[in-house]
Amino acid sequence: MDTKIQKILEARGQWNADGISRKAAARLCPLCRRPMMVGLDADTAAFTAKCSPEPLNATGELLALMAGLRTYSISWLGNAYVIDFRDVDRIKWSPPGSNSRDDVLAEHRCDFVTTKQMTITRNAIPPVYETGVSDDAPF
Ligand SMILES: [Zn+2]
Repeated sequence: MDTKIQKILEARGQWNADGISRKAAARLCPLCRRPMMVGLDADTAAFTAKCSPEPLNATGELLALMAGLRTYSISWLGNAYVIDFRDVDRIKWSPPGSNSRDDVLAEHRCDFVTTKQMTITRNAIPPVYETGVSDDAPF
């Protein structure tokens, strides 16, 4: 594509040369080949957020912050996942798991591995209810 046309389209927000946008997308880290979510972390003046996909609990976020990593909220907006940077106020007033609409992710760093103790556990398997049990009393 002509660079002049590309610059005009980029200025209008109609062209994205690196494919990174506000809509988060799953990608593999080119170095460690682990999955990560990538997207812009704000509507304006955004940075590219590269996050490990495991949702953190409060302990996980604390350990990530202590390791010098940024943390992000990821939420589903009906047609796409969106990543937002967690500033001090979000960390303080919206701890992981307090909001059912979003999860907290740690910045991806190849040497930082999220353990099971650091993630929110959810009941991925729905409860099994007995069927065919009569409501009648057994006596
Ligand atoms: Zn990596």
